[in-house]
Amino acid sequence: MLDVEAIRKDFPILSREVNGKPLVYFDNAATSQTPQQVIHAIVDYYSNFNANIHRGVHTLSQEATDLYEQSRQKIQAHFNAKFSHEIIFTSGTTHGINLVANGFSSILKTGDEIIVSALEHHSNIVPWQMLCEHTGANLKVIPMNDQGELVMSEYDNLLSENTKLVFTNHISNALGTINPIEYIIKKAHAVGAAVLIDGAQACPHIKPDVQALDVDFYVASAHKMCGPTGVGMLYGKEAWLNKLPPYQGGGEMIAEVTFEKTTYADLPHKFEAGTPNIAGGIVFGTAIDYMNSIGFDAVAQYENELLEYATEKLLSIDGLKIYGTSKHKTSVLSFNLEGIHPYDVGSILDKLGIAVRTGHHCAQPIMDYYKIPGTIRASFAFYNTKSEIDALVEGVKKAKKMLS
Ligand code: PMP
Repeated sequence: MLDVEAIRKDFPILSREVNGKPLVYFDNAATSQTPQQVIHAIVDYYSNFNANIHRGVHTLSQEATDLYEQSRQKIQAHFNAKFSHEIIFTSGTTHGINLVANGFSSILKTGDEIIVSALEHHSNIVPWQMLCEHTGANLKVIPMNDQGELVMSEYDNLLSENTKLVFTNHISNALGTINPIEYIIKKAHAVGAAVLIDGAQACPHIKPDVQALDVDFYVASAHKMCGPTGVGMLYGKEAWLNKLPPYQGGGEMIAEVTFEKTTYADLPHKFEAGTPNIAGGIVFGTAIDYMNSIGFDAVAQYENELLEYATEKLLSIDGLKIYGTSKHKTSVLSFNLEGIHPYDVGSILDKLGIAVRTGHHCAQPIMDYYKIPGTIRASFAFYNTKSEIDALVEGVKKAKKMLS
């Protein structure tokens, strides 16, 4: 059982007001809020350790390097990677995906096939389209059904000896569907294809085990799991990371540089050119500690309660439709009021201090499937409460009255 009132005290922002009303923050799928433990760790870093890493012999540089590398080890342990050098610090999920896509541009050839899912965020569509343009490979799409689930029988039909890569998110940001990634990975490996899983939406809710999944690449962003923006991680199997060429050239990623030839550093530095987001990398570890101190099982159970409560309450509103009705989903509710634009509802909710996301959620193909311009998305975290959901439901009713 979570002590939600005590947990809420960890998040200073939750006690502020918006438009004269207590903030109700339901935009957690866009970014999570930041606990004081993480805020404190950022202040502590800049107050006591700020220095460039991996370069200086002086004490500050060595201490900052140690903190950065300890954080990498924390991330390794959290995702259960075999080696800490299989964890690459990135600026976020988008960076991790682009790094892998860029690497495959020297591996793929004309006629190769890559498979993505219909439920993807644009950041897991556009880099692969660019890759196809460069290489002559073809993009295939696993279709979705009305419940917002991927159709696995169609996936089976798409797989062939030409399939070289499969990409899908672990959990859809627009609908909350949890995709059957174990099956997807197993089937892809059976035809010799590599798999990248976009874990941006999964990591706030569950603790992925990359070895048990046997996944080739897994990417995530710290800011979705109580960490700061501008930092994330790419897990890659050692053999794959050794095979892929570097993404960017620069300082830190080299072994030796002459004008005739440059040799690259070993993992993980080969993929970490330039001065990274040092504070962000260190504090990513603090955010992981914080999430683990709350406990992922308790988080999942509580968020599920919130989801069930909100689903029932919202569905009692006449003309309200929820998109994404899979039994396998996390605490995301995407919905519309019949005949009313989602943006108008979002604006009225904002006046009431309630933060939701409106629009296509960077997942336009899903909106096209449902033939809608977008949805209102309320996404819940472990620090939200049922009384906040009551405020949302009242707000939606009020918006309906004003806009009908
Ligand atoms: N994939 C999914 C499923 C996401 O939800 C997001 C963030 N909305 C991203 C990728 C991109 O993450 P970032 O902007 O942190 O790179």
